Amino acid sequence: MSNGQPAKRIAIFGSTGSIGKQALEVIEANPDKFSVEILTAQTNDEILIRQAMHFNPEIVVIGDEKKYPRVKEALAAKPIKVFTGEQALQEVAAMDVYDLMLAAIVGFAGLKPTLRAIESGKAVALANKETLVVAGDIVMKKAVDHRAPIIPVDSEHSAIFQCLVGETRNRIEKIILTASGGPFIGKKPNFLVNVKRDHALQHPNWNMGAKISVDSATLMNKGLEMIEAKWLFNLRPEQVQVVIHPQSIIHSMIQFEDGSLKAQMGLPDMKLPIQYAFAFPTRIPNKFPRYDFKKPNALTFEEPDTKTFRNLVLATEALHKGGNLPCVLNAANEIAVYAFLRNRLGFLDMTDLVERSMQHVPFIAQPTLEEYFESDAEARNFAASLIKL
Ligand code: NAD
Ligand code: MG
Repeated sequence: MSNGQPAKRIAIFGSTGSIGKQALEVIEANPDKFSVEILTAQTNDEILIRQAMHFNPEIVVIGDEKKYPRVKEALAAKPIKVFTGEQALQEVAAMDVYDLMLAAIVGFAGLKPTLRAIESGKAVALANKETLVVAGDIVMKKAVDHRAPIIPVDSEHSAIFQCLVGETRNRIEKIILTASGGPFIGKKPNFLVNVKRDHALQHPNWNMGAKISVDSATLMNKGLEMIEAKWLFNLRPEQVQVVIHPQSIIHSMIQFEDGSLKAQMGLPDMKLPIQYAFAFPTRIPNKFPRYDFKKPNALTFEEPDTKTFRNLVLATEALHKGGNLPCVLNAANEIAVYAFLRNRLGFLDMTDLVERSMQHVPFIAQPTLEEYFESDAEARNFAASLIKL
């Protein structure tokens, strides 16, 4: 780093996504502190090529094998190794060319490469919440076994993580995850039944990838985050509370044993938690806009409407029962969201699909990793079969 230390070598898995791009902005602003060693993308060859030309990583992976020749050719003049396919993604995650992985792939697809990074003892800045939702027990155990630090990037979990600094001996009574409520806060089922893709993609406070935008609109995102928090901070299900805070200024809070509440606040900007995860435990100065207390803007809080946004109820059930239920919830939700994005499924039908999948796939209390993969596949197949009807 700038104080004589070498730059931290970063691998960005999912570099063409919303998180990946913002991470590259953070690195661009701090070239003495960070270097880019690996960039990966699934299909967007154009952006990937542009990023590679600019940041000169060691390695580039394009998931989609049809796109490989174009990427290879475009980078031919550079000493950049180009790989393709799912297998390559995992192999590269285990290579000794980087120090910290930013896990910014969306969905279940992020699990295997992240596990490989952990097994290789790498630090992981975790944006991909689905990894912990699906197999949190196995992921966290491996992280301990391989001494691989996991630093949250999700803004709520980064907030909790920041509030925990200096509190190692003090017990948490509960954590309070804040939720903006999404674009349909206050709406009822008679409105939601007609909601379409474009409307759901317009989040009031955050500009994010398509999947998490839909998850935010259905409140499934907050459900996934409850499960993510349980694993990250070793909490009991009843210690995780959700409160709606439409302004997204308080990013989350901890209530300690003495009743004291600690909150982390700031304007909603993912570059902040990304930068914090990269530089932890150091803070880096920046020119991001600041929250202005002189402006008359009230911070408000309310209970989530779980009668309308039933995903929160389903996720709470998965949080409490554990086993393969969060994995099934996640798999069915991925199928539901992508069907909704293709206008094949209604907004409220997404929740029904998840609920029916949770009822269908047999419960396993302590799954192995293979059983998690089987449960994921079974839930996907079942959910997909319902859409075809
Ligand atoms: P995105 O859709 O914008 O980007 C996803 C990235 O993953 C892309 O680079 C894409 O190429 C890659 N990818 C997609 N499918 C893949 C596959 N099958 N195999 C390999 N790579 C694949 O998503 P995003 O909004 O950047 O979110 C990424 C992750 O971060 C998600 O898990 C999300 O929940 C989490 N997260 C995002 C935000 C946000 O503000 N966007 C905030 C908190 C957490
Ligand atoms: Mg979040």
